[in-house]
Amino acid sequence: MENFNFYAPTQVLFGEGQLKNLPNVLEIYGKKVLLVYGGGSIKRNGIYDAIYRLLPDADFTIVELGGVEPNPRIDTVRKGAALCHAEKIDVILAVGGGSTIDCSKAIAAAYYYEGDPWDFTQNRGLVKEALPLVTVLTMAATGSEMNGGSVLTNPETNEKLSTGGISMIPKASILDPTYTYTVSKWQTAAGSADITSHLIESYFSQNAGASVQDRLAEGLMKTVVQYAPVALEDPTNYEARANLMWSSSLALNGLTGRGKLGSWSCHAIEHELSAFYDITHGIGLAIITPRWMEHVLNDDTVAKFVEYAVNVWGISTEGKDKFSIAKEGIQALKDCFVSWDIPMTLPEVGIDKEKIRLMAEKAVEHSTIDQTAYVPLTADDVEAILLNCF
Ligand code: NAP
Ligand code: FE
Repeated sequence: MENFNFYAPTQVLFGEGQLKNLPNVLEIYGKKVLLVYGGGSIKRNGIYDAIYRLLPDADFTIVELGGVEPNPRIDTVRKGAALCHAEKIDVILAVGGGSTIDCSKAIAAAYYYEGDPWDFTQNRGLVKEALPLVTVLTMAATGSEMNGGSVLTNPETNEKLSTGGISMIPKASILDPTYTYTVSKWQTAAGSADITSHLIESYFSQNAGASVQDRLAEGLMKTVVQYAPVALEDPTNYEARANLMWSSSLALNGLTGRGKLGSWSCHAIEHELSAFYDITHGIGLAIITPRWMEHVLNDDTVAKFVEYAVNVWGISTEGKDKFSIAKEGIQALKDCFVSWDIPMTLPEVGIDKEKIRLMAEKAVEHSTIDQTAYVPLTADDVEAILLNCF
């Protein structure tokens, strides 16, 4: 296990009805709130009204920034930062999924930065102070509710890049599983695939010996495998939504990822698909991940894939060689995504072969997968992985 710095300071208020504590949580930071949200789901499912029933009565003033896009755009960050200055905002309240939260994080830091917030994606060191951020999570997926990461898109340059910093970690997050009852089957499957991917990206790593992290990751992966089908079948099943929601936070708050490099290969590749084709993040990951696994399975990695197959999928080892067991594990993951109704090829999400080479080169240029990944990948490797998704 490598040395690490684990810092997960977010206050989590988990469970049905926790919104009632929102005024107490917010007033530590001030009374002028920027409410950030997405395309309107919070108006349709009543969360928006619930916030307006609580905050004005407690003397808060709300300024709104709605319309945050899935794969949030840098222009919206610029708009939000300007609004914070014009309205003298004390605290940002993000109500939504990862896109709304990521956008809010960048707004919070942009407030204190004189240059253009896109610079944050080029140099994380530029993320210094940030306005305090409180979140109300409405979908289980990214873990953004409990970490300092933010993924931003610049449609003008076809770039989707990450940034982050400890000042961007939410001060508090309200996790009410009933708020995810209205998440569509498509987004439930995508979110569950994203959680699974975060766990896999940490699990497969150049550094061995982090058993605590890996056993926790296996438990979380099994939890998602158990409950995603329940939520897909029965969207208002509290137990399923609660377990998915808490898995989302724990999968990317450092618990399973610190003490090891991780791979982060599938995220690097997926960000290029989203940058060029604006596809749903978790769906892209589901398509890529089993093909990445097939590509990196070799004599050096097979033992880890056997561990994954046995511990996560319960594959029996009797009378089988290592590679057969490993391949059964990869197939089990693929079958699982298929059973969640995820389309498992790129053409099904509107991607043809035209930009495959370009995306492969950009994935390497925009990340360190040629050095730090579980198995370092060149543009040729990424191209081969993507071509296997057809
Ligand atoms: P999202 O993009 O925030 O939301 C996806 C869709 O789901 C939106 O159309 C949204 O509608 C809808 N939705 C959300 N909650 C809903 C609800 N309760 N009922 C009905 N519809 C609902 O999804 P996400 O997967 O959470 O976030 C994806 C983004 O996060 C990507 O850009 C990805 O790269 C990034 N990401 C970040 C991290 C991190 O650590 N920071 C990690 C992984 C991925 P509305 O817009 O109308 O609300
Ligand atoms: Fe992700």
